[in-house]
Amino acid sequence: MRPDSLPEFFPARARIAVLTTEPVGVLDYLAPDEGVRQGQLVLVPLGPRRVIGLVRGAGQGDFDLAKLRPVAKVLKAEPFRPEFLEFLTRAADYTLTPLPLMLRMATRAPDLDRPPAARRIIVPAGDPPARMTEARQRVLDVIANHGGASFAPSELAQLAGVGTPVVKGLVSAGTLAEIQAPRDTPYPRLDPSLPGKPLDADQQAASDALQTAIRGGGYGTTLLRGVTGSGKTEVYLEAVAECLRAGRQALVLLPEIALSAEFLDRVEARFGARPGEWHSGITRTERRRLWHMAGQGEVGLVVGARSALFLPFRDLGLIVVDEEHDGSYKQEDVVFYSARDMAVLRASILGAQVVLASATPSLESWVNAASGKYRRLDLRSRYGAAELPDMTAIDLRAEDLPSGRWISPTLASAVAARIARGQQSLLFLNRRGFAPVTVCRACGEQIACHQCDARMVEHRFQNRLVCHQCGETRPIPDACPSCQVEGKLAPIGPGVERIAEEVAARFPDAKATILSSDLFHSARALKDTIAQIADGDTDIIIGTQIVAKGHNFPRLSLVGVIDADLGLQGADLRAAERSFQLMRQVAGRAGRHAGEGPGVAMLQTHQPDHAVIRAILSGEDEAFWNAEAAARQAVGMPPFGRLAGIILSHPDLATVSDFARHLAAHAQPLRDAGAELWGPAPAPIARIRGRHRIRLLIHAPRQAAMQSAIADWLAPHKPPANLRLSVDIDPQSFL
Ligand code: ADP
Ligand code: ZN
Repeated sequence: MRPDSLPEFFPARARIAVLTTEPVGVLDYLAPDEGVRQGQLVLVPLGPRRVIGLVRGAGQGDFDLAKLRPVAKVLKAEPFRPEFLEFLTRAADYTLTPLPLMLRMATRAPDLDRPPAARRIIVPAGDPPARMTEARQRVLDVIANHGGASFAPSELAQLAGVGTPVVKGLVSAGTLAEIQAPRDTPYPRLDPSLPGKPLDADQQAASDALQTAIRGGGYGTTLLRGVTGSGKTEVYLEAVAECLRAGRQALVLLPEIALSAEFLDRVEARFGARPGEWHSGITRTERRRLWHMAGQGEVGLVVGARSALFLPFRDLGLIVVDEEHDGSYKQEDVVFYSARDMAVLRASILGAQVVLASATPSLESWVNAASGKYRRLDLRSRYGAAELPDMTAIDLRAEDLPSGRWISPTLASAVAARIARGQQSLLFLNRRGFAPVTVCRACGEQIACHQCDARMVEHRFQNRLVCHQCGETRPIPDACPSCQVEGKLAPIGPGVERIAEEVAARFPDAKATILSSDLFHSARALKDTIAQIADGDTDIIIGTQIVAKGHNFPRLSLVGVIDADLGLQGADLRAAERSFQLMRQVAGRAGRHAGEGPGVAMLQTHQPDHAVIRAILSGEDEAFWNAEAAARQAVGMPPFGRLAGIILSHPDLATVSDFARHLAAHAQPLRDAGAELWGPAPAPIARIRGRHRIRLLIHAPRQAAMQSAIADWLAPHKPPANLRLSVDIDPQSFL
């Protein structure tokens, strides 16, 4: 439905969904004299509190009007459009989330319930200060990197990592000025008529197909496939241009880590202005502004992390999900949802286009493209002359590798050759910390977290043991906590920090940099380091999976995968798919260098004949996906069958086990719908933060009405106090 169709008007009595975390639901209130409209946001009294509510329709109760409490205030926000409400309702139904919780996700503008206070913001005003300091430079950098954004002085100081006096100093120096903030201001208009890059044949064909679909005005989903660097971004920016020309808004979702200044610069180069930005790093001021401007249609393009999908856009015509296979699109907290799947749902309701871009699509999207449900567009070559790296396996069974060392002689000499040529090497190991296990050589005890069913991981730089489940840390002890013997604790196995130690011993003159999320106190520090690496300021990069995502290191010509077997071991049916995606992405970092042919990727493995390793080496991606799809189909697993995970948790094991058995004993509604129940069984991590966790898995044929069967099954059973029950439809892992 287009925005011209106005929501209805309800005098006197209104049904209002009360947006609280408790299950209050929908209540009747007395509307103000001027009425309220469907989709409008209001403040209503609830007991002694005032809470945000959303007008659903006309009141229905037949009790006395005089007994109704009145709406306290109508909020100054665009009413939610009927199609947006339909999306939220269907998303709630799909994910089995109570509607008020889903509506709360869509009302995440800060201070929605408070009138905007008079705010002071900082704007550029004059020349650089006579006296420049590092702190002052950081402040100016933040402003330069967020062109057009407005910051309160404290927000600016915080983003720059300096004290507020530094900002005030720049104001005194006349470089910046502090002014009264204008009311939430529209974003600068993007100009789609500026020229894009001249496209090659594949790009042009893909761009034409997308533009035609957008002009058609209906719904459709396209899988845009092409290796990293093949020019997918250029293609979908042309789709954005067409969407803007049609007068509609566009949304580009990126994995959070890829939300870089570099991407915003590209948008600016193409359209002459920056898009709206939505992710955890933006200020409250920007968050509020973007939320309102999305609703008023005063921001043409939003670039954001997964939750941007719940912005109240006025007229959204295109959603791009870049790196659509990325695990960070799945939220597994409070509301469990996949932003990729919800993007398709929202677009199908709106009559909008979805572009799923990836070099290594999820098996779900691959199968949907193969069956014709999605359109598929391929970019066959890397843009320009570059080609994929040469892939080889290093058979660790044949290498002379003493214990305590992980870089094989073959890989080491390849690294040495790169150093000699002034090129970079990347050593990839998807494990944070120094060693995954710390064991006592006297009694065999492995040091574990007190409150989780997880081992403590040694982080040598912090000089602490860290639980990767709950984040608890403690000093590395001298004596074994179990047998008290001193000096016998030993790290087992490698993490990136240990590889860095080996690199330092083997290549003492080389400059090495570790890229691991835990070693950076802010997203900004990480981005700075990535920029330094791209400038060539390191010889050897040692990284976890954060290196796999879209960073471009021009001098990188060798990728060494320290343990290609790591992801293959789990019993999870998705292990092969994930390993394949990750190793492909990492290998793709190795670029071609003039006069020396393509980059090289080397996989250290004990099982060079494993199907995944062979698929990566041969480059036969389609054969891999087809084989993987056939294997899943044979056992009725997603996407050929459906799964849902129910996680129950409670501090007391007996309480949670009893309730799980009770639910399992009453599972007839599931069987009636053709679904089966597996479990109860301990969840993959059986205890987190002191809560025992039990999982029930529901497996259903593709066509079954799984969600309503689960709802019917769970409804009559009241969980004991303090028991948490979460439902995860289409879980990421199906161990
Ligand atoms: P992908 O999104 O597939 O990783 P990009 O769109 O980022 O690929 O393209 C990779 C690089 O090639 C970028 O620097 C981009 O600007 C450049 N590029 C892509 N297509 C063209 C083109 N048609 N003309 C000029 N440069 C291009
Ligand atoms: Zn823990």
